[in-house]
Amino acid sequence: MSEIYWVKQLENEANNNLGQNFLIDSNISRKITKLVQGQLGDPILEIGPGTGSLTNELLKDDYRIKAIEIDKELVDIVSKRFSDIPNIELIKGDAMEYDYSQLTGPWWIMVSNLPYYVGTRLLVKLITEVPVIHRYVVMVQREVAERITAEPGTKNYGALSVFCSLFTEPKIQFDVNKNCFFPEPKIISTVVTLQREPLEDSDLRIKAFEIAKVAFQQKRKKIRTALKEIITEDKLISLNIDPNLRPSNLTPDHYLELAMETE
Ligand code: SAM
Repeated sequence: MSEIYWVKQLENEANNNLGQNFLIDSNISRKITKLVQGQLGDPILEIGPGTGSLTNELLKDDYRIKAIEIDKELVDIVSKRFSDIPNIELIKGDAMEYDYSQLTGPWWIMVSNLPYYVGTRLLVKLITEVPVIHRYVVMVQREVAERITAEPGTKNYGALSVFCSLFTEPKIQFDVNKNCFFPEPKIISTVVTLQREPLEDSDLRIKAFEIAKVAFQQKRKKIRTALKEIITEDKLISLNIDPNLRPSNLTPDHYLELAMETE
């Protein structure tokens, strides 16, 4: 059955507030699934399975899936679609509220065509709070993908870029055309992978992210001004960081150094 068949099962219109743009091109779902790069039976966390287009391809590769979907009608459609498949556990709930301590074992992979309204917040939450996830394969708006992967000194570089670089190795994979979705979104989507290494100093990295957020609130100011509540000019100089630099000139490692210095 085609993907559009499953979308047509919806009695209510797709809910724009919940970011419901369903992927109807299974070639794209296949391309995303190839990026998972897991082993047979590896556990996958899928946020927002929708009508199950991506889920369907993931199941073909024999992954074990825990899927969290907020919309009851979609949960019913996906339960019906995969009723004879044991490899999927479907949870009706809000992914922002779910208790992720239930994810045990060292290797989880998160796969999601993220709902745009909550995508960035959810990614930050999972990366900081759920270290058992070691790889993320996510679809986000093109401009979020550019912010995630931006290098210091470029126009898209900001606190999100610092954060993603401190915790993961992020990489833009490919863009997805609007006509691959129903209903069509207004923006271009991009698939990004983020590979996470085991880290011993996560708390320090979270602190570095907090400092970057403060700095980028005044991104046009020099850091001696933007960070004056956090660190003195003398301390910046003692760290070999020029106080006249702007927040966007500091590398993620600089923010980490600042976090260490202000412990
Ligand atoms: N994965 C499907 C696909 O690719 O066609 C659907 C993707 S659609 C962009 C986003 C999905 O996330 C929708 O099914 C929506 O109902 C669900 N969703 C939105 N907010 C959510 C939340 N807070 N927790 C769990 N699911 C959510």
